[in-house]
Amino acid sequence: MTNIADWLIPCLRQVQVLKQTNSLSHALLITGADGVGQEELAHEMVKDLMCEKNQAAACGTCHSCQLMSADTHPDFRVLDGEASTIKVDQVRLLVRQISQKPQVGQNKVVLITHAQAMNINAANAVLKALEEPADRTFFVLTSSQSSSLMPTIRSRCLLVNVPTPSMNEVKSWLMQQPDGKALGALFWLTTQPFRLLAIQQQGKTQLYAGLPDQLTSMLRGTVSVSAVLKGLDSNNIEDYCNGLAAILHQCICHSTGAPIDEALQTIYDTLIARLGIQTLMLRYQSLQKLKSDLQKTNLNPIMQLTHELNQW
Ligand SMILES: [Zn+2]
Repeated sequence: MTNIADWLIPCLRQVQVLKQTNSLSHALLITGADGVGQEELAHEMVKDLMCEKNQAAACGTCHSCQLMSADTHPDFRVLDGEASTIKVDQVRLLVRQISQKPQVGQNKVVLITHAQAMNINAANAVLKALEEPADRTFFVLTSSQSSSLMPTIRSRCLLVNVPTPSMNEVKSWLMQQPDGKALGALFWLTTQPFRLLAIQQQGKTQLYAGLPDQLTSMLRGTVSVSAVLKGLDSNNIEDYCNGLAAILHQCICHSTGAPIDEALQTIYDTLIARLGIQTLMLRYQSLQKLKSDLQKTNLNPIMQLTHELNQW
């Protein structure tokens, strides 16, 4: 078995056993909180399903497995709704493509990640495909908001629920990742393991890790607002907004008794004394609004965030 996170293994085994005994449903819906690894689990399951060997886990060596690792398998199709709505034409095209006989192995697989992004027509097209399953064709869906999927889709799927890992599981998993130790400095932002990994893969660990110290210095008056925002550009404005909003959110939660990350303690003490809880909440809402406005308009991000931080 490939090296996957410990908390995903029972889910993977569950499906492997069903596959090996030929009793696997032709539709799977993988659910769980954002960032716990639904997509990673789905890709492992797809590899197992595409393997030509009649065994539980992918062999890694057959022609199908090689095509999967080269990302060129003709009988595997994927739609991802992370960045945009999944539309009906995309689903129809894909259903047409896999309605042929398998070109390589025995099975064909359609993977739809972030399936909640299907619009109603796309969802109906998927439902139709699930109602009239083609031979040896599997649909694998992932969603962190499975309750927003049509109940008629959910009821046709085998549900695989990915558990949320404990802090200790997340920490020990991060230690096994290259440079994963540095990500421990971002627990104030998120404890979702695959979100942390995505931040690292995008080369943004330092951007986030530096924020608490820079803001602490800014509030003490030893660095300027423009120094805090010196790395800001149009590609990372959303990260700055996310980071600042997460810090304010932690401070607001701490004011009601929730624990706060050590890195944010001085920021909390200063802001609560300087602004009070009501204003902190206003600043948090203002940042959220700024984040959505920036996507729609041509606001100058540096000017907007400078104005925001000047009010801290
Ligand atoms: Zn294989």
